[in-house]
Amino acid sequence: MNPSHPTWIEIDLSAVAHNCARIGQDTSTPLMAIVKGDAYGHGAVEVGRAAVAGGASWLGVARCCEARALREAGIQAPILVLGMVTPEEVDEAISQRLTLTLHDPETLALFSARARAAHRTLGVHLKVETGLGRVGVFPEEVPAFARKATAGGSLVLDGMYSHLAVADEDHPLNELQAKRFRTVVQAMETEGMRPRWVHLANSAAAYWLPETRYDLVRVGNVVLGMRISIDRPLPEAYRPVLSWKARLGSCRVLPEGWGVGYGQTYVTERDELIGVIPVGYGDGLRRIPGNQVLIGGERCPVVGRSCLDQSMVRLPRPFPVGEEVVVVGSQGGEAIWFHDLAALYKTTQVDISTHLHSRVPHIYKHG
Ligand SMILES: *Cc1c(COP(=O)(O)O)cnc(C)c1O
Repeated sequence: MNPSHPTWIEIDLSAVAHNCARIGQDTSTPLMAIVKGDAYGHGAVEVGRAAVAGGASWLGVARCCEARALREAGIQAPILVLGMVTPEEVDEAISQRLTLTLHDPETLALFSARARAAHRTLGVHLKVETGLGRVGVFPEEVPAFARKATAGGSLVLDGMYSHLAVADEDHPLNELQAKRFRTVVQAMETEGMRPRWVHLANSAAAYWLPETRYDLVRVGNVVLGMRISIDRPLPEAYRPVLSWKARLGSCRVLPEGWGVGYGQTYVTERDELIGVIPVGYGDGLRRIPGNQVLIGGERCPVVGRSCLDQSMVRLPRPFPVGEEVVVVGSQGGEAIWFHDLAALYKTTQVDISTHLHSRVPHIYKHG
């Protein structure tokens, strides 16, 4: 228990390093740990550092500002920026030795102009459109595009990748995307232009579609010990990384027929022990019915509407103020993980973890 906060998040960095090493063993492929979105709300710098310590060869982020934070923290590993960049950011990317995603004639013109102006080279990974319908060069256009990209000498074609749209489902598009990508890789090999790093797999594909592994697997969820899909458990060997805890703020009996909270959506059926926890929708607990927390190793329902900063819970027995409350994590024999919340909220685990509010202090533990 941490004595100084009403609610806090614990991040187990030894679990991050452990999971990365495990991914290496299970996929026999170098790892790009994806730490975009502040490592899905877990803390990009700390998770990134632990991932590199656990054997990750690359880090992947969505934006240049995310990469900057990693460089400023002294992380030297290669970093791929997966998303879009502004012209100003290209200059920064060059000076910070970031690798950018080249995905159309506009990025080609911009990247090579900025690299030439800086008298430097810029490493790029070429994105191929195989079916996600977001960005990327169409497969049949890739060899000609790649030749044009490298002709000026300022861009170094260090990688080539694509992204799967439905890797976490058994869906025919997986095979189609994999086939389109394989055809491009073969064409590039034939032309003597195959880049060093060819990659296609995210978490789901890294495990379920081994032919998509190539030279690098891009893994976010599993690095954090989150399930690949919410209804399939991870192998036992992986460890959860994040726990969200709080201290019970109040415990008292409300008489029968007493309304609880804004809107009075809950009314006690008898004399009930109602606790108050310092956790609300302003922290990342969704304001919808069905939430539970763990107290004394038991699941306790949140009753009434959550407030911004607090929620009320029905307790099976009295607990002292200060008793440990687990919002995400395990306690005794019980556990509530992001996949449980994802099922309740009908969304993804990452949607929930990235919406944990930064006012909840993150406490990093090293084992
Ligand atoms: C976010 C992202 C990933 C990681 O996906 P997970 O399912 O978390 O493993 C991989 N590749 C790209 C291009 C991404 O944007």
